Amino acid sequence: MKIRFSDDKNIFNIHTDGIPYLSFDAFDKLGVPNLFSTRYMSFDEASGTGVKGLRTAVMKIEKVEEASPVCRANRDILAHQLGSSLAMELVTDQKHTNYVHVATCEEDLGVATVGDFTLHRQYVDGIVTDIPDALLTVFGGDCPPVYLIDPRRRAAGLVHAGWKGTLGKIPQVAIAQMSVKFGCDPADMYAAIGPGVCADCYEMGDEVYEAFAEQWSKEDADLILKRYAPGTESEAFGHIIGHRQPDGSPGKYHLDLRAANRLTLLRAGIPEDHITVSNVCTMCNADTFYTYRGRALENEQVAMMVNRFDI
Ligand SMILES: [Zn+2]
Repeated sequence: MKIRFSDDKNIFNIHTDGIPYLSFDAFDKLGVPNLFSTRYMSFDEASGTGVKGLRTAVMKIEKVEEASPVCRANRDILAHQLGSSLAMELVTDQKHTNYVHVATCEEDLGVATVGDFTLHRQYVDGIVTDIPDALLTVFGGDCPPVYLIDPRRRAAGLVHAGWKGTLGKIPQVAIAQMSVKFGCDPADMYAAIGPGVCADCYEMGDEVYEAFAEQWSKEDADLILKRYAPGTESEAFGHIIGHRQPDGSPGKYHLDLRAANRLTLLRAGIPEDHITVSNVCTMCNADTFYTYRGRALENEQVAMMVNRFDI
């Protein structure tokens, strides 16, 4: 598939049999089935063309009862491609919170779809579990998912980390729950920050800088939010960014979600060499991925991971 990587191309493996998806090479090597979908229903490498329009998430404007069966059917195909099924699914109702559901009983499996609010899973943006073979599912249009696994305790977590979840340190919340509930030691854990909007594409208002300065620290805010002068050129692809400001303005802040979440993972105690960071931007690749900022809004990507260690 045509994907623009900002550097090393070996972070992801690309799968085009069945519904296409990307997987993290580091997690593949640990035997953990994982995926991040695209816009494609199918892709033919020989001709370099594919059929777009994959729907996995029920969008706000859709009727749940009409959209849910289609989305569930597609997620079930993806689940089977990971050697799982929707009967094993733990799925979030996302609302840009930092709430994480701890799933420990099999009653949790396969019961919720997006829009089907269940009492304990209402508006959570992440799930952690120690149920063997459970399938964790979150969605994202530009917000990166963060995948967490502990091969020693055989536990897994998956969270949706948009700017609000990132501000609320949702990966740290998940790691803390895994430590308390499953006895995980962050030193044993591995993490991967999935595809999402890159800093070049992620222009923010001053209030976002102020929120990070207040809730994290000014030093942190300066590290993860930078003003882009008008006419700044994207380092990765050479296109002009920071062009929406009038001449003479100091430029808008751009938030680096990858750097922010990486910082959270490191501070939570995950070793640096256990962290993989995506170099794929959904907006720089609006042809391949759904993206809010890039105005490809028809659906979202799905991130999935099975709590299984095939090694
Ligand atoms: Zn980008």
